Amino acid sequence: MAEFDAIVIGGGLVGAAIAYGLARAGIAAAIIDEGDIAFRASRGNFGLVWVQSKGLGAPHYQRWTRLSAEEWPALARELGERTGISVGLEQPGGLQLCLSGKELEKRHAMMKQMRREAGNFGFEYRMLDHTELAEILPGLGSSVAGASWTPYDGHANSLNLLHALHKGFIERGGAYLPNRTVTEASAAPHDFRLQLGGEMITAPKVVLAAGLGNAKLAPLFGLSAPVRPQRGQILVTERTHRIWSLPLGSLRQTQEGTIMLGSSEEDVGFDTAQKPEIMRNIARRAVLSFPWIAQLQIVRAWAALRVMPPDGLPIYDQSEEFPGAFTANCHSGVTLAGAHANAFAPMVAAGALDPVMAPFSAKRFDVPAQA
Ligand SMILES: Cc1cc2nc3c(=O)[nH]c(=O)nc-3n(C[C@H](O)[C@H](O)[C@H](O)COP(=O)(O)OP(=O)(O)OC[C@H]3O[C@@H](n4cnc5c(N)ncnc54)[C@H](O)[C@@H]3O)c2cc1C
Repeated sequence: MAEFDAIVIGGGLVGAAIAYGLARAGIAAAIIDEGDIAFRASRGNFGLVWVQSKGLGAPHYQRWTRLSAEEWPALARELGERTGISVGLEQPGGLQLCLSGKELEKRHAMMKQMRREAGNFGFEYRMLDHTELAEILPGLGSSVAGASWTPYDGHANSLNLLHALHKGFIERGGAYLPNRTVTEASAAPHDFRLQLGGEMITAPKVVLAAGLGNAKLAPLFGLSAPVRPQRGQILVTERTHRIWSLPLGSLRQTQEGTIMLGSSEEDVGFDTAQKPEIMRNIARRAVLSFPWIAQLQIVRAWAALRVMPPDGLPIYDQSEEFPGAFTANCHSGVTLAGAHANAFAPMVAAGALDPVMAPFSAKRFDVPAQA
């Protein structure tokens, strides 16, 4: 029987960031990971560290995202020093392009609401018109009406991030146990036992970070994680000289020079097929934004599934029935990596979530039925 201080179920970006934070805090942790399956979001994302649209009507989510963006540079530096892997973080701010006057108006209204809701916490943004944008973005299409800008946004190489978190975790003494699927567990307060084939693994703490797998696992631990898949498709062009270092919402150029075009939001269940009509629409918007993109070859394209809570906001919880069990679910695991490693993991290490996390509890979905 293998005994640990904490078990993290799931080795995607969410689980790896939390497990890294635990190992760094001196916790003897294990990651149990089913493996590299088709809808593993951590290998199919867009790589944005994106703040500007997060938390409309939910300022606690805006604050959590901002905290994460603030923690990112320290995490990136630390991972680079400890693992030798550059996660390619750039945080020059970000622009969200709007392709019509109506889109721009809607965006402006959203930015104003974000600032209002931020209150004393503040929310810096600017709206730019076509002329201002054309001065900073070469070859801008005439269809672009304008953009919103905030200083908080950035992007990173999310595959390197996943690799670095795993490497850093193992170097800190963590145990990575792949090709194991948790289907059953015995749970008691501060006593969790997982039977994995012939081996039994125990710990007084468990963190459910199994992405879409959390929906089935959560009830075993007195928790609820009603996440559903949301498909996103992405196209990638051949490499070209560096044109933009700042991400443009659904367009971003990697440090290697490829341009990523994305990404759709489709409710199609556990279907990871690519659809030509969606790909065409992604390419069409990109070419309307920058007509010269039409001359670049598309070299890769894929679809992957986001881990989507019912209201789009993350779910973080601790089990009242079985103290010591926690869950973390979100659709922005790249952006939130800083918060997961540097804020959420210390809470798990301390044994309880901070009261500021209460609005993220799945209890918000327990609305009594109308009489
Ligand atoms: C198209 C697309 C674009 C995106 N773009 C961005 C972006 O620009 N910025 C951003 O911040 N986020 C983005 N995301 C979201 C981000 O990728 C996810 O939030 C993040 O990867 C989720 O990580 P996860 O660890 O929760 O889930 P996953 O990556 O799915 O990992 C879950 C892991 O748990 C394992 N597992 C599942 N069930 C079990 C079980 N029963 N036992 C053991 N192991 C199990 C799986 O094998 C897997 O390894 C995007 C996602 C998609 C699909």
